[in-house]
Amino acid sequence: MSEKNNYIQGKTGPWEVVIGLEVHAQITSKAKLFSGASTVFGGDPNTQVSFIDAGFPGMLPLINNFCVEQAIKTGFGLNAQINKISIFDRKNYFYADLPQGYQISQHLYPIVGKGYLEIELEDGTVKRINITRLHLEQDAGKSIHDQHPNKSYIDLNRSGIALMEIVSEPDIRSVEEAQAYIKKLRGLLRYLGTCDGNMEQGSLRADVNVSLRRPGEDYGTRAEIKNVNSVRFMGQAITYEIQRQMEILENGGQIDQETRLFDASKGITRSMRNKENAHDYRYFPDPDLPPLVLSDEEIERIRALLPELPDAKKARFIRDYQLSAYDAGVLSSELETVSYFETALKHLKEANEKSIKQLANWIIGELFAALNRDSLLIEASKVSPQSLAELINFIYEGTISGRLAKDIFTEMWETGEHPDKIINAKGLVQVSDEGEIATVIEKILNENQDKVMEYQSGKDKLFGFFVGQVMKVMQGKGNPTIINKVLLEKLKS
Ligand code: ADP
Ligand code: MG
Repeated sequence: MSEKNNYIQGKTGPWEVVIGLEVHAQITSKAKLFSGASTVFGGDPNTQVSFIDAGFPGMLPLINNFCVEQAIKTGFGLNAQINKISIFDRKNYFYADLPQGYQISQHLYPIVGKGYLEIELEDGTVKRINITRLHLEQDAGKSIHDQHPNKSYIDLNRSGIALMEIVSEPDIRSVEEAQAYIKKLRGLLRYLGTCDGNMEQGSLRADVNVSLRRPGEDYGTRAEIKNVNSVRFMGQAITYEIQRQMEILENGGQIDQETRLFDASKGITRSMRNKENAHDYRYFPDPDLPPLVLSDEEIERIRALLPELPDAKKARFIRDYQLSAYDAGVLSSELETVSYFETALKHLKEANEKSIKQLANWIIGELFAALNRDSLLIEASKVSPQSLAELINFIYEGTISGRLAKDIFTEMWETGEHPDKIINAKGLVQVSDEGEIATVIEKILNENQDKVMEYQSGKDKLFGFFVGQVMKVMQGKGNPTIINKVLLEKLKS
C-alpha cells in the first residue's frame, strides 16, 4: 500500500486532483427490481413494461429477491458491510421518462455500507479506494429526442430495471487511478455475475466528481460529470475538467458546484444544471415497501455462493507463483484473463517460478499488445492458451531462443498454428549441441586471430563481437548460454 503524490504543476503552484465516483451498475437479472417485466437489452420500445414500470396508480411494487441477492454478493466483493435492515425511499422529481414521479432508491439506509476496492497501478503500487455505500434503486425510462423534428419519444423498457449505485469516497487522485478503479470494479462485477459490465449498452456508467485543491488543504468544490460510459471517455472527461478548473482557480475564480455532461465528439464537458439548490428530492420511505430485513442465515447462504474473488486469486498468485503484485493483479482482475492464464498454466510442462513468470510476461506483454493492436478481447485471442504454453515450454527447454520466440509468436498470431509446426517448418530449432557450436566458434576464432589477441590482452568488450559472429553464422539459432560457455573456454586457452 502506498501513497504517492500526483500533483499537477500550475502557473501558481501545485494542485492535487480529487475524484470520487458514483457508479451505476445494472444488475444482471431476468426481471426488474419491483416487477416481472423482462430486462433484455434492445427490445422494441415499450414492449417490456409492466403496469408498475409505467407508474399506473394503485400498482404495488414487490421486491425481486434475486436482485437483493445480487447486491449482497457485490457487497461481499467490495469487502463491505452488509446491512441487515435497509429502507426503500421515494426520490421525488418530475421527468417525462419517470412516470411514477419518483424513483425508488435507498437514501439513509442502504443495503451495503462501507467497504473498499484495491487497485493496481502501473508503477506496481497497490492503492485502496474506500467505498462509501452501495444502494439499490430503479432505473428511469429513456427519452429519445432525435426521431422526430418536434416531438420526443419515451421508451419505458428500462424503467424499473434494478441498479446498484456504488459510491466511492473521494480517494482517487488521478486519471490513471480512476481508470484502474472502474476497470477493477467492472472486472469484479463480471466475476460475480452481478452486472455484465457492458459500458456501451449503458449497463455500467459513472458519474465522475472532480475537484482540485492545494496539497494539504481541504477539499475544493467539485463538478459532477454525469453518465460517463467508457474508460477512455472517463480519462478524457477528467483531463478536460482538470484543465478547466485549474484555469478558473488560477485566475482567482471559483468553481460552481454543478452537473456537467461530457461531449465525446468534442472531448469537452459542458454545464448541464447547477446543483446548488437542486437537492430537494423530498425523500421519504416508500409506504408500499416494508423495510428490507435480512437474516444472518440468508446473508451466510449468499456468502457461500461466492466464487474465489479477484483479490483472493491475486493473493494466491503472489503466494503460490511468486508473481509481482502488479502482474498478479492484472492476471486476476478479469474472468477471461484468469481463465486464459489458468488454462495456459495447465499446459506448462514444468510449472515453476521461472516458467510461470515467463508465462505472465508473455500474456501481459506480447499477447496484450497483439490483442490491443487488433482490438480483440482475450477470449477471441488468435493464440490459444495451450499454444502459448507450448511456446513457453520450447523456450524453457532451450529448443528456441527468446528472440526467435517473438517471431514465432507473430506467426502463431497470424496463422493460428501451434508453435511446433512453425518451428519444424522453418527449421527454427535452437542448436544446443556443444560440438556443433564449438566447430563454429573455432572457425570464427581462426578467422579473427587479431581480435583474439586483443581480447586476450584485456579488451573484454570483444566478447560480444564473438558472440555476434557465432550467432550470425548460426542464423540466430545457437543456444546463447552454451555459446557463452564454449566461447569462454576457447578464449582462455
Ligand atoms: P451527492 O449525493 O450530492 O452526489 P455525496 O457527498 O454523496 O454527494 O458525494 C457524491 C460523490 O462525490 C462521492 O463519490 C464522493 O466521493 C464525491 N465527492 C465528494 N466531495 C468531493 C470533492 N470535493 N471532490 C471530488 N469528489 C467529491
Ligand atoms: Mg450524486
